[in-house]
Parts: sequence; structure tokens; C-alpha cells
Amino acid sequence: MDVLSLNTRETPLQVTWKLDDNGAFIRLVEERYPALDFAELVALRRYLAEAAQVDGYFSDDMVAKNTLQESCRYAESRLKSYDLKEIVKTLFQFYRCSPDSDIFGKYYLKSHAIEVYMVPCIVFSMLIEEDFLDMAIGTMSHELAHGFHHVGADKDGLTWKTFAQVEPELVEGLAEFYTREYARSIESSRPQVLRAFKKTAAYLPEPYRRYEQWGDGHGLETVYQAFIEARRNDVRTFGDFKNGLKDAGHRLREGQ
Ligand SMILES: [Zn+2]
Repeated sequence: MDVLSLNTRETPLQVTWKLDDNGAFIRLVEERYPALDFAELVALRRYLAEAAQVDGYFSDDMVAKNTLQESCRYAESRLKSYDLKEIVKTLFQFYRCSPDSDIFGKYYLKSHAIEVYMVPCIVFSMLIEEDFLDMAIGTMSHELAHGFHHVGADKDGLTWKTFAQVEPELVEGLAEFYTREYARSIESSRPQVLRAFKKTAAYLPEPYRRYEQWGDGHGLETVYQAFIEARRNDVRTFGDFKNGLKDAGHRLREGQ
């Protein structure tokens, strides 16, 4: 079901928001966790957080204090049936580290269409206790980055012709790098996007995080220069890109 569609103005990327990738995620949840109640999980965690805040104010009334603590013990016992790490691992195990199979969205290599899947975003945002919208903003940034890296023309009209053959570590690393930079750029007005990005990254497979090896020493200009050179020189591996990044950083420092 198409929920919302929009076209970017200068690059032919059609963005469509869907509930799920043809029901794949919903089927997986029903199959693996038929009795899982995400709403209960979230409510119990919120209750415990709030109870911790008010506990000190109940010191004058031991009956009230004991009742609160008893209810917290009950909430904790209920939460023991939810192993968050195991749930995330199971539900997100089918990450395949490819632009056309990201779990929260998809970038189609042939049509350049982008889909953002709301149900996985909603479920995951509940698990990491963040807002769905912040999760969705990060997902859309990631998929748009794939599209711009592939068919976004540079000032000479060139695109990345061999994008489909590029190593996942490089394709996903570039998308994650620019998603993080976008989240940082709006941090003063919407810090939750960067927070959700960081929490999500902790669960992603290693290829999505390999770019962190670049370090924070490389700024946007250096990465952009290395990226343009990688597209023009048919760089396909993470290692070669990393070398190009080092060279670009050196040239920029030298003012060449
Ligand atoms: Zn991706």
C-alpha cells in the first residue's frame, strides 16, 4: 500500500512510504513472536522509568512505597519475558547489506525508486525508545543517499555507472556517513534524529559501520572529493576508497 509519494526535484528519485516490504516483516513478527505485545513492552518500560522518578517522594508513607515497589517488581518480571537483544537479532537477521534489501527501506538499482517501510521503523523505534518519525527521517536519508550516490550527477553530468558492483561496505558506509552528517546538521533543532541514528547503528551489521574506521578527521569536503574520484576511477572496494580518502585529505591539507 502506498501511503505517500514524492519526487525530488533535480534527481529522478521517487520516494514512496509503505507499511512493509510486501508484508515480509509483519509475517516474520507473526511467525517468530505470535504473542509479543510491543505496546506492553513499551508501557512497562515507561512505567518503571516514571516509578524511579517518584519513588523518593513516597518516603512518608511506607504502604504507598511498598505498593509502588511491588508493582515495579511485577513490571520487571513481565519484562523478563522480553529479551530485547534476542528480539532485535531475530527480527533484523535478514539484513543482507545491500541497497535493495535494507530492512527499513529499499533503493531499487534499476528504477532508482525508493521505499521507506513504516512498520519496521515503528517496531524498531519502540524497541530503542525513540520516535518513529526520527527513525523514518534517518531511513529516508540513508536511502536517498544511495540514490544520489548512484544517479546524482556531478557538475560534469557524470554518475556512478558501476554502483551495483561496488562492495557493500563502501555503498552502505557512504550512505551511513551522509545520514550521520545530515543528522548532525539538524542536531540543534532536532537532536532526536542523531540519537536514534546512533542507537540504531549499535544493532547494524559490521559492513554498515565500517566507515567509522575513516575517523572523524575526514570532513565533508574530503569525503566528497574522494567520493567523486571513486566514481570516476571505478573504485569498488572499501580499502581502495579508504586510500583515496587519505590522498584527498592530504591534498586538501596541502592546499593542492
Ligand atoms: Zn543501504
